[in-house]
Parts: sequence; C-alpha cells; structure tokens
Amino acid sequence: MDFEALTGITPTDDERQLLQLYSRCTLCPNRCAVDRLAGETGLCASTAVPLISFCGLHRGEEPPVSGKKGAGMVFFNGCSLHCRYCQNSQISLSGTDSPGVPTDIPTLVSLMLALQEQGAHCLNLVTSSHFLPTVIIALKRARRQGLKLPVVYNTSGFETVEALRLIDPLVDLYLIDVKTLDKSVATAFCGGSAYPDVIVPAMEYLRSTHPRTFMRKGHLYGILVRHLVFPGTLEATMSFLDWYAAGYKYRCYLSLMVQFVPPDGDKTLPELTREQYDRLMNRLDELEIDDGFYQEYGEDAGFEAERMWIPDFNRDQPFAPGFADPLPLFLNLRKNSRRN
Ligand code: SF4
Repeated sequence: MDFEALTGITPTDDERQLLQLYSRCTLCPNRCAVDRLAGETGLCASTAVPLISFCGLHRGEEPPVSGKKGAGMVFFNGCSLHCRYCQNSQISLSGTDSPGVPTDIPTLVSLMLALQEQGAHCLNLVTSSHFLPTVIIALKRARRQGLKLPVVYNTSGFETVEALRLIDPLVDLYLIDVKTLDKSVATAFCGGSAYPDVIVPAMEYLRSTHPRTFMRKGHLYGILVRHLVFPGTLEATMSFLDWYAAGYKYRCYLSLMVQFVPPDGDKTLPELTREQYDRLMNRLDELEIDDGFYQEYGEDAGFEAERMWIPDFNRDQPFAPGFADPLPLFLNLRKNSRRN
C-alpha cells in the first residue's frame, strides 16, 4: 500500500497500524468490512480519503461551543447513519460525489492550525467517525505543531465503543446526539432500528471516561447531549428525558432542540405544537434537568421559519448569512479542487 500517495505522509508504525483499520473497515457499527484503502466504499460512502465540505468559523452552535468568534468547524462528507431527514443530506448521503475537497493529512493539519490562527473558540469535528484513523493522526500531528484548541467531537452517536476508545484521549467535549431510544422512531427517522442498541453502550462508555461536565474559562468539557424532537414522537422524547435524568443529568449538559426541518419540504409531518412544547418544558422542570440549553418555541420552531438553517454546501458560504466565515485557506483549496 502506497500510504504516502494516499495520505500525504510517511506513516510511523503506530500511524500505519491506525490506517490499516481502513483495510477491512469496522470503524462503525455497520461493520462493512470493505477495503477503503483500495478505494472501496461501505455504507458511509467514503474511501480512506476524506472530503471536506466546509471549514471555517461558525456561530450557530451552543454558546460555550461557539464562543465569541465561532467554533472552528470541519465538516466531513459521508456518514455511517442515514437519517431520513438529515439537514446535511447534500454531503452525508454521498461521500464521494458530493461537494467537498479531498484532503490529505498534512492539509487537514494545516486547516486545524489555520482555524486556531483565525481565533476559533474550539476545533469542532463534524461527523468524522468514519475517518477516525486520519483524524487521530492529524490531531496528534497538529498538537505537536502547536494546536491548543479544545477538541469537540461532534457525532451522531452511531459509534462503537472500540472507536470511542481510540479517539477518547484526544477529545475535550463530546457533542453527541442521542436521537432516540425507541426502535420504531429509529426506524422511521434514523435509517434503521439499530440506533438505540448502539447509543446506550456508547453513552455508558463515555460516562465512565467523563464522569462530569464542567465549564472552564468559557469552554465546556465533558459531554453535551443533543436531542432533537422528531415530528409526532413526543412520547419517545419524554422517555428519553426519563432515561437522561436517571443516569446522566448530573454528569452531562443537555441541548434540547425543537427545530426539526424536513429538507425536502414534506408538509405531511406534524409540527410541534405550543401545548406539546410546554409539556416538554414542564417535564424538564419535574425531572430537574437544569444544566444545558433548550430552544425557544416560536422564534425557532416552525418548518418554514427553520428552512433558512439548511446549509447549501454547493456555495462557498453554505450557512445562513452572518453565521459562518469560511477559512480563506479552505476557499483556496476548494477553488483548486474545482479546477482539477
Ligand atoms: S465507517 Fe463506513 S465502511 Fe466502515 S464500517 Fe462504517 S459505514 Fe462501513
């Protein structure tokens, strides 16, 4: 295997061992066993070469993640989970032929360092678990070259414990979805019934390695659980809140989101009503879930109002106006990759 041609580095023995994980890939619970080093793709639709669809500052995350200037985002193409209404479906469903810049390891390191120079509040790696070997190698190399930003691992939660064990020493904050614990909701919205069986052990593992979540100098460390209310599934969210309160409320922060938007404009799905929203808020109170964030009703709810948040990765600036600044280095890479 010509690792240098594929990754842009001459790997050390440890790095080579990591890269070999692509050769019969079981990096996520799909366990496709395809050879991504040879250009094969599994369910994440990605070879061993990451495509990056956006890199820059973004101010739309939770306050301690965005900070004042914005989180330093790196959006990776492809995804191992195929949620039916993914807001990033333009890049998540197809890893190889959607808008994105093929990125080797030295380039990824340069992007990380450039985000730091630009004043990013943290390094926020969005859906990178199917590129775990590359990300681990790049992070370690970037640290050696002066990267000091806290690392946020932004994940759907569709993770194996083995994979989490590999990345865990490098992560300061998990921004992890707990989409549902209900198999029928998972089947309807998360691409299959497997999700609840995966997220529970993943969260148990993270709880064992990050027993508490805390703020320090404007940064959050530990675990920030994101839960989005899917249409017509309020009872499943109530069950999730019970589970969260029983095992996690003193150890994690919760971000409760109500801004579900079907990217295809499907109007048959029921929107969250004011009465349902109030029930949710009451439940948070009853369960004494205090640490975290929740979206307001009205301002943030409603399919039409929310459509502006669906990014268009065909543009240099995919997000709502004023919310993100692409990194100049990334724009150059994007321009060059279009030429080639
Ligand atoms: S990372 Fe991709 S190829 Fe590997 S097991 Fe998961 S979906 Fe399959």
